Amino acid sequence: MAVNKEVYNELNHFLSAENVTLVAVSKTKPVNDIQALYELGQRDFGENYVQEITEKQPLLPPGIRWHFIGHLQTNKVKYIAPFVYMIHGIDSLKLLKEVNKQALKCNRVISVLLQIHIAKEETKFGLDENELQEVLQYAGGLKNVAIKGLMGMASFTSDEAEVRSEFKYLSSLYKKNNNLTSNPLPLTTLSMGMSGDYKIAIEEGSNMVRIGSLLFGARG
Ligand SMILES: *Cc1c(COP(=O)(O)O)cnc(C)c1O
Repeated sequence: MAVNKEVYNELNHFLSAENVTLVAVSKTKPVNDIQALYELGQRDFGENYVQEITEKQPLLPPGIRWHFIGHLQTNKVKYIAPFVYMIHGIDSLKLLKEVNKQALKCNRVISVLLQIHIAKEETKFGLDENELQEVLQYAGGLKNVAIKGLMGMASFTSDEAEVRSEFKYLSSLYKKNNNLTSNPLPLTTLSMGMSGDYKIAIEEGSNMVRIGSLLFGARG
């Protein structure tokens, strides 16, 4: 299925009014679909797989802001460092240091989000609250990464109360961090919410949503 323009325009209208940035998640979708959305004005696109993002990037307009939203292995950072706009899934200090190192090699400063584990499922990646503090303490010394905020994924469940409480928790960490006078890094981005739960996420304070299937149709 190609991009649904009506859905895009409606979603865009709603999100702009809420001051929420839309990251269009184009993983597994052809470059033609990305191009079509670009022509409607969309600039932020999210991909999950290193090989896929590096194949698509040269085929598409340079004005695209590429968000890497998947789990990133340390040994693959070098492939995306030359062009990636924002990395959402920083889940260890080791990975953050590697992004800093590769960004330095490219003479860039790469924006990153720290991924927090908020879901009940153990399979989802992310830092806990203590690890977050450790990373933030250390991060001031890294000159080629800019920590912009936090990212999280709620449990995959139809229980809305559960999803809401997980987003509420992430939002509270975000706010708490920004209220600490000791924190030298004000956070401006809270990336939470996907096709199925973005409305709840926004109600709980999200200002960046990552939406795939709603825009591009279900993935095969
Ligand atoms: C695939 C994916 C999304 C988008 O999911 P949809 O349900 O298709 O909107 C968002 N965030 C992450 C991290 C993803 O992997």
